[in-house]
Amino acid sequence: MSESTQTYSMHELVSLCKRRGFIYPASEIYGGINGFWDYGPLGTALKNNLRDLWWRDMVQRPPLGPDGNEVSIVGLDSAIIQNAKVWEASGHVGGFNDPMVDCRETKARYRADHLMCLGLKGDRSGQIYAYVDGDEDSLAAAQKKLEKYVKKALSPDDVDTCQLTALSAEELAVTVGPDTKNAGTLTEPRQFNLMFDTTTGAIRNEDSKVYLRPETAQGIFLNFNNVVDTMRVKVPFGIAQIGKAFRNEVTPRNFIFRSREFEQMEIEWFCHEDDAEKWFEFWCDVRSSWWQSIGLTGANIMMRKHDDDELAHYAKEGCGTFDIEYRFPFTHPGFGELEGVAHRGNYDLSRHQEFSKKKLAYFDQAKNERYLPHVIEPSAGLSRGTLALLCEAYTPDPDRASKVYMAFHPKIAPIQAAVFPLVGKDGMPEIAHQLWSELRERWDVVTDVKQSIGKRYARMDEAGCPFCFTIDGDTASDQAVTVRHRDTQAQERIALDQVATFMSEKVG
Ligand code: ATP
Repeated sequence: MSESTQTYSMHELVSLCKRRGFIYPASEIYGGINGFWDYGPLGTALKNNLRDLWWRDMVQRPPLGPDGNEVSIVGLDSAIIQNAKVWEASGHVGGFNDPMVDCRETKARYRADHLMCLGLKGDRSGQIYAYVDGDEDSLAAAQKKLEKYVKKALSPDDVDTCQLTALSAEELAVTVGPDTKNAGTLTEPRQFNLMFDTTTGAIRNEDSKVYLRPETAQGIFLNFNNVVDTMRVKVPFGIAQIGKAFRNEVTPRNFIFRSREFEQMEIEWFCHEDDAEKWFEFWCDVRSSWWQSIGLTGANIMMRKHDDDELAHYAKEGCGTFDIEYRFPFTHPGFGELEGVAHRGNYDLSRHQEFSKKKLAYFDQAKNERYLPHVIEPSAGLSRGTLALLCEAYTPDPDRASKVYMAFHPKIAPIQAAVFPLVGKDGMPEIAHQLWSELRERWDVVTDVKQSIGKRYARMDEAGCPFCFTIDGDTASDQAVTVRHRDTQAQERIALDQVATFMSEKVG
């Protein structure tokens, strides 16, 4: 999706992802399982590239700070299951809730804050119809349903919209749920905890109850003292972690955008309270430019400050939270969250200090000052980031054989180059094999001799491979190959011994 125009539907992208081995529904042969996805060979490569670039750019070669020196960030990989008290201290047991309504008739469950109502004015007042989320599909379904109910009342002047959570009991009683025909089947909103629980050990009871982590962040706070004591880091510094997180989302939807198992890439940046605002601005800038550096178009990215009533339980004070949002096809022309940059204050360290009764204060020897650092947290979705890259790359093109190509930035593409012998004889496969062996030392490269060259190019277009190098009948004598560029389909001839240099320049 280039610039700000949306030229395709999510169905098309989802079907390409299935067809070309990016993403499959989990447990598909058993009918699937809502909210879970498996990554195929190309999806895994794309996600790993995103993960590795983040790790390289944030941990191994971190950004330059406001003073021009590299900031200091170390890595961590903590357990998914921790002591259950962690989640009481973090506020997730008490506060990690979404308001939810059930439909008594269909047994469907919805997030109340995702249900909008169309309240009808005039003669029809009191008749209220609900639809989910405002995305294309649910809106279309709701419109259809509305038309069925109130053919005459559809002019915009007759309709008011409002959020379901704000409805009174009387209004709820006349609300029609998204999947029913009868009014009054929705329960009042109730709080629903999003954490998955299980038990450890042989005895299953309340004492053995544990949770799958809903965010990777807490593992970092738990190890704050360990890292300070073992790594000779000095505040300000960051701890980074990439890993799985689990949330029993009420309504998983929009492909991998909101799933129940997903991956996060989080940094907890520890700093002095007086410097928190400066670092908050720094991380907002760094993170939003980083997404652009791997191929997301600036026009499709937006920074949005959270309203006060949206703030998470840890971010009530301080500079608040900025979301880095991306214009996904299902939010178009609006935006959806890709990453949150939050000022968490010293909420987490002080809560863990209180609940664990272990001292977590940092001692600054230079200033002879002991304090609980404040935390700026850039928390990005690795799964959502992968989706943003897929959405950005998908480019319909009716004039080419594949009708679509995936315009990934070369450094993130799951296949970075292909080496094709034009035909499987006359020494061409041997030269191709030699070049492929050389290139694969540094890049993700495939080689393939089957089918016509046009079909092989078409396959690479759908896989998003930026460069195809073709060995033909002249290569043996002129020591040159044809490079075909994915986006323009332009072809040029370059020397065989310059292919690696070409790749270094284009891919890095
Ligand atoms: P949302 O408002 O979309 O539920 P959130 O504000 O709860 O997200 P955070 O707790 O800030 O999300 O999590 C940080 C990042 O983790 C998000 O920006 C997103 O990229 C990712 N993320 C959160 N929930 C999910 C999910 N259910 N599926 C995929 N990614 C998710």
